[in-house]
Amino acid sequence: MSVSQIPADPPPRYKRVLLKISGEALMGDREYGLDPGMVAQIAGDVAKVRALGVDVCLVVGGGNIFRGVSAASEGMERASADYMGMLATVINALALQSALENIGVDTRVQSAIPMSTVAEPYIRRRAARHMAKGRVVIFAAGTGNPFFTTDTAAALRASEMGCDVLLKGTKVDGVYDADPAKNPDATRYETLSYMRVLTDDLGVMDHAAISLARENAIPILVFSIYRPGAFAEVLSGEGRFTLVRTEE
Ligand code: UDP
Repeated sequence: MSVSQIPADPPPRYKRVLLKISGEALMGDREYGLDPGMVAQIAGDVAKVRALGVDVCLVVGGGNIFRGVSAASEGMERASADYMGMLATVINALALQSALENIGVDTRVQSAIPMSTVAEPYIRRRAARHMAKGRVVIFAAGTGNPFFTTDTAAALRASEMGCDVLLKGTKVDGVYDADPAKNPDATRYETLSYMRVLTDDLGVMDHAAISLARENAIPILVFSIYRPGAFAEVLSGEGRFTLVRTEE
């Protein structure tokens, strides 16, 4: 049975979703850069969700290549370092685009920093049109502004595109009350309020991203992108994840 024929059982709970993929996730087990196997795995998971009829857009980070804050701490001017970080996200976006198109998923990359020979510029209405046609839109270059993060870009684009949920794919399968890698007794929250995440500084996403999602009442679903198939599962309410929303 091909992927496009797999029935959704139970059906997805969301119609339009934004998946934030950190640069780190694309690195797999490597210390730096891109792991083609991991990129292909994530592309396969995105294809599976598309095949369920869910509209998908992506925001990709750049931490596997360059992080502005780290370079700034070593003496580089912060704004310049941040622009370099944003360019790193474009590299990742092109890698994801290629992996998706290899398996027949129609995509468009839109960059918040105009770069007309490699990607479309970000135009909200055009991105919405691509999504309506079933294309996966990959948003690159974050917000286009230094001093921001791709998490904030994800909350911004999810708001602009009218997404029902913002998914954050991480190494762990949700938000824990302690680091599960160090503490075997750490327990995972099923749900959390935006307020709790902010006041307890739970590190789901930066505060600007959480606040934006909260203002626009977009739930944030944190899950493990490392587990193949998890993206489709969590959209149907299955598997392990933490949901951040208005109420606890
Ligand atoms: N960045 C930025 N503005 C944005 C998004 C990203 O300046 O709107 C820069 C910032 O330097 C950041 C880098 O791009 O460190 C890579 O993005 P991020 O660290 O969010 O990627 P991730 O942690 O998701 O891999």
